[in-house]
Amino acid sequence: MSKKWAIALHGGAGPIFGRDYSREEAHMTGLLKEAGRRLAAGVAALDVVEAMVADLEDSGLHLAGKGAAPNSEGRFELDAAIMDGRTRNAGAVAALSGFLSPIAAARAVMERTPHVLIAGEGARMLARNCGLDEVVDPAAYYKPIEERCLLPARTMGTVGAVALDTYGDLAAATSTGGVLSKTPGRVGDTPLIGAGTWADERCAVSCTGLGEYFIRAAAAADVSARIRYGGSTLEEAVQGALDDVKHLGGEGGMIAVGADGTLIANFNSGGLKRGLMDSEGRFDVGTF
Ligand code: ASP
Repeated sequence: MSKKWAIALHGGAGPIFGRDYSREEAHMTGLLKEAGRRLAAGVAALDVVEAMVADLEDSGLHLAGKGAAPNSEGRFELDAAIMDGRTRNAGAVAALSGFLSPIAAARAVMERTPHVLIAGEGARMLARNCGLDEVVDPAAYYKPIEERCLLPARTMGTVGAVALDTYGDLAAATSTGGVLSKTPGRVGDTPLIGAGTWADERCAVSCTGLGEYFIRAAAAADVSARIRYGGSTLEEAVQGALDDVKHLGGEGGMIAVGADGTLIANFNSGGLKRGLMDSEGRFDVGTF
């Protein structure tokens, strides 16, 4: 076991320029400190990223979990994925309705089924069979944040976390309400392994942005491929993957951690709510 660990989180690539994000930044600061404490104590990266994303979902501060916005029919359909870099086991849910924590449902897919991705009614049945907490009254539970009223129809706000633990293992988790006013049944990049979420022995990546472009760029897995086949550093690989998204016409951001503990947060949108912390003393929280 080494003493080295690293953690990053994001709250989406769609912040509104000029708005005050001190509440979100204070919340991310608290989550980072708690995650750092747990990683230093030997908790696995997979458990830390799941817990962090569950807290971000529960905060209602981002367009995921409690803060998710409804689709064009007024229903809440959420997507999430988790991936263990050591084993490359992965689990994801798409268009899940009625549960507090889509990331917990994604973990259940990974650990309790032979599948990677379960959508819609099947995801709902699995979450219920696993005894996960349900949303009793959606109208009272979801408190869509004011961005929903202020922003144009396709803006962004996913949450995610990536970590390196003291065993040298990497993990990634991402959860989202998707883009605003999405078509019922629309699935973005978040729950698609390799598009919005990825972890292997080289890096762990969580993306946010206009999901259709991240899917078409296979953006999250592209970061690893650039390291593996192109000899890129993690920083170059993230930049290259984001440039590809931009080339297709998309925008957004990514957080990534490498096997050596390098942390990267990068975006080509107006901002990225983000926080990074490691065992060497790095601590950055920011939005723009
Ligand atoms: N990537 C998410 C999606 O397309 C949205 C976001 O990141 O805010 O569903």
